[in-house]
Amino acid sequence: MNDSTSPSPSAFDDARTRLDAVAQKIALPPGTLAQLRQCKRELAVHFPVKMDDGSVKIFNGYRVHHNVTRGPAKGGIRYHPHTDLDEVRALAFWMTVKCAVVNIPFGGAKGGVECDPATFSAGELERLTRRYTSEISIMLGPDKDIPAPDVNTNGQIMAWIMDTYSQEVGQTVPAVVTGKPLSVGGSEGRIEATGRGVVTITRELLLSRGEQLPNSTVAVQGFGNVGAIAAGGFFRTGAKVVAVSDVRGAIYNAKGLDIIAVQSHARNTGSVVGFTDSEPISPADLLLLPVDVLVPAALQNQITVANAAQVRARYIVEGANGPITSQADEILNANGVVVVPDVLANAGGVTVSYFEWVQGLQSFFWSESEVNAKLEQILVRAWGQVRAASERHQTDLRTAAYIVGVGRVAEAIAVRGIYP
Ligand code: GLU
Repeated sequence: MNDSTSPSPSAFDDARTRLDAVAQKIALPPGTLAQLRQCKRELAVHFPVKMDDGSVKIFNGYRVHHNVTRGPAKGGIRYHPHTDLDEVRALAFWMTVKCAVVNIPFGGAKGGVECDPATFSAGELERLTRRYTSEISIMLGPDKDIPAPDVNTNGQIMAWIMDTYSQEVGQTVPAVVTGKPLSVGGSEGRIEATGRGVVTITRELLLSRGEQLPNSTVAVQGFGNVGAIAAGGFFRTGAKVVAVSDVRGAIYNAKGLDIIAVQSHARNTGSVVGFTDSEPISPADLLLLPVDVLVPAALQNQITVANAAQVRARYIVEGANGPITSQADEILNANGVVVVPDVLANAGGVTVSYFEWVQGLQSFFWSESEVNAKLEQILVRAWGQVRAASERHQTDLRTAAYIVGVGRVAEAIAVRGIYP
């Protein structure tokens, strides 16, 4: 996999390139563009953690609020050896756009800690999480900034964040974080929401072109919370998932993989690699398979100028944040590959985070079918609005999604006015 270890241009600069292009298309006021080209608040923290061997290690962490005009800052926290301030800025910007595209009342945030959680004991992971939470707690609050899971973080980590914040303020505050376990105020359907949303959006895309999911071929890069759930969802609809991958490798079966069996193999062995009813392929080749739908659901910068011209998928649905660079986008557009952007395709996760936050604030909880029905409604509405914008402006779906999302943020900035 072309991990973010490979030298790549600044992710935030790349994000701004797309913002600049959309600003021109919708005649964004120069002051608004200048505001959105920066993040509103950025906190970098360097903090000690006691390791099991008695040593003390210093870690670098970040929390960034890109924009909070439409509501409190919202966005995940990732633990990854190569995360840095630039990446977190880009991810925070995308959260601003994403929340606006699905029209939920949040601004955009992101956080990250530069670390490899696979090397930690449970105790080390808990101590790192609690100290990082304490370090960034001046930014957090149920009305200020609500973190959630992202790459290499999960419900247990969210529970520690909730507990640490709650201990510091002296009362239990479930709504300070989403993606929590059900036992501490999590929402039904939250774990599955991002993957479920990817399938919903793919279904809508195909329907809009007179096609259907059953029998269409799909390749999924990444088998974490997004990729594994999306692959399972595609499999259940009758689509043929011919290839999946994770950090250890990729597997292929032209007749379609039994994803339920792959999920249990991955649970038992820690990887999709070695699944019996499949042949190994290189993770790089997975991205170039001649499938109907390619779902990059791993990390950013996977489809770049280096491989975009060889992509043979007809549709790409971005499960990950930022898997395609802006230059690669141009190549894909020129080759007629239709891309559904991250800010719409993976917005199911933050949408159910919104439901979790609302349920936590009112201490009244919904059933899984209520959550899923409301998610479906929001995603289908957003899809329709983005599709309509792409027709109205005769443009690709990413530009259309930015027109919708950035347009909503700009309108909120205009109506609130500039203080003082
Ligand atoms: N990390 C997820 C994302 O990138 C979810 C964010 C959230 O639920 O706040 O959309």
